[in-house]
Amino acid sequence: MSKFWSPLTASLEPYVPGEQPKDKAYIKLNTNENPYPPSPKAIAAMTAAINEDLRLYPDPNSEVLVQALAKKHGLAPQQVFVGNGSDEILAFAFASFFDPGKPVLFPDITYSFYKVYAKFYGITPKLIPLDEQFNINVDHYTGEHGGIVIPNPNAPTAIPLPLDDVRRLVESNPEQVVLIDEAYVDFGAESAAGLVHQYPNLLVVQTLSKSRSLAGLRVGFAFGSEELIEGLNRTKNSFNSYTLDRVALAGSVAAIEDHHYFAATTAKVVATRERVRARLQELGFTVTPSKANFVFISHPVIPAKRLFEVLREQGVLVRYFASPRIDNFLRVSIGTDEEMDSFLAAIEHNL
Ligand code: PMP
Repeated sequence: MSKFWSPLTASLEPYVPGEQPKDKAYIKLNTNENPYPPSPKAIAAMTAAINEDLRLYPDPNSEVLVQALAKKHGLAPQQVFVGNGSDEILAFAFASFFDPGKPVLFPDITYSFYKVYAKFYGITPKLIPLDEQFNINVDHYTGEHGGIVIPNPNAPTAIPLPLDDVRRLVESNPEQVVLIDEAYVDFGAESAAGLVHQYPNLLVVQTLSKSRSLAGLRVGFAFGSEELIEGLNRTKNSFNSYTLDRVALAGSVAAIEDHHYFAATTAKVVATRERVRARLQELGFTVTPSKANFVFISHPVIPAKRLFEVLREQGVLVRYFASPRIDNFLRVSIGTDEEMDSFLAAIEHNL
C-alpha cells in the first residue's frame, strides 16, 4: 500500500499468473503453453520485420491482420478486432459492454481473470455453479444481469460447451452481450465464430497464445457484429491507439496463414492428451473429458496439493487451484510426449 496510490489502485486484487521460472530445468506444464515452437514461417516473417521500418509507428488499425482473419473466417473486416493478447480484449470488452449497475454472469469455476476485470470496472460478478460433473448448464444463466462470459472449453475444467448450448444462451439473452472466450477451442471444441453473422450480441474471443504457440507475442482477436467491434475500437482508441507492433503484425499474419503447421502441431497435442488421459485413468485418476491442451485431474487418495508439491520437487510444474468449490484438482498442460512421459513417471513414482 502506498499513499501515492489512487483509491482504485488500492482496492484492486490483481490476477496472479502461473509461475514462469527462469530455470529451464523444469518441465513446465503449468500455464497451458504449446510445447512446439511457432511456425517457422512466422519466425521468418518476424525476423524480416526487424528492420529500419521500426522507426515508424505501426498501422493503428492492424489492417493486414484484420484482413487475414476476416478472410479466414468469412467475415467482413468490420466484424474483426485485434488486441494485445486475449486478456487485453477481455478487459476492453468488460469496459465496452458491461454496465457496472448490473452483475455479469460467469461459471464457478472459470478463468480467474474475469473476476479481476469485474472488480476493476466496479461490476459485481455473479458466479453460476457448474453441475456435479463440472458441466455448464446454460439454462441457469438467467435473471437480471448485464452480460455473460463463458470460456469454451471452460478453464480449468477443459470441458467444452456444445454449439447448440452457445446458440441457446445467445438467443435467450438478446439484450446482453454473450462473450465466448475460445482461448482453447482449436484443441477439439466447436467454435461459435460462424454465428456472429446471425447474432448481434455474440462476441467470440480467440488467441494466438495456445494453438499457434505464440504466447510470448501477445496477440488475440475478437469476432462480432459491427456494433460490438465498433464498441471495442472506441474503448481501445481511448486507451492505446497502437495495439500491435510491426513485428507482431508480421508474425501473426504468417502464423494464421500457415495452416499446415498449425494442423500438424495441434493434432500432436490432441494425440498426446488422449494418451495421457487414458494412462491417468488406468492409474485411478478422475480426468474430465478435455477438449483443451490441458487435463484437469484428481486422485481418490492422494491430495492434489501434495501431488503438486512432489511433482515440483521432481522438476515438474503443474497448476494447483485452491477454490472453495473444487479444491482437490490439478490442471496439467499437455507437453511433448517426452515431457508427458516424465510427468507420468513422476506420478507413478508417488502412487
Ligand atoms: N482466456 C482463458 C480462458 C485463458 O486461460 C487465457 C490464458 N491464460 C486467456 C484467455 C488469455 O490468453 P492470452 O492473453 O495469452 O491471449
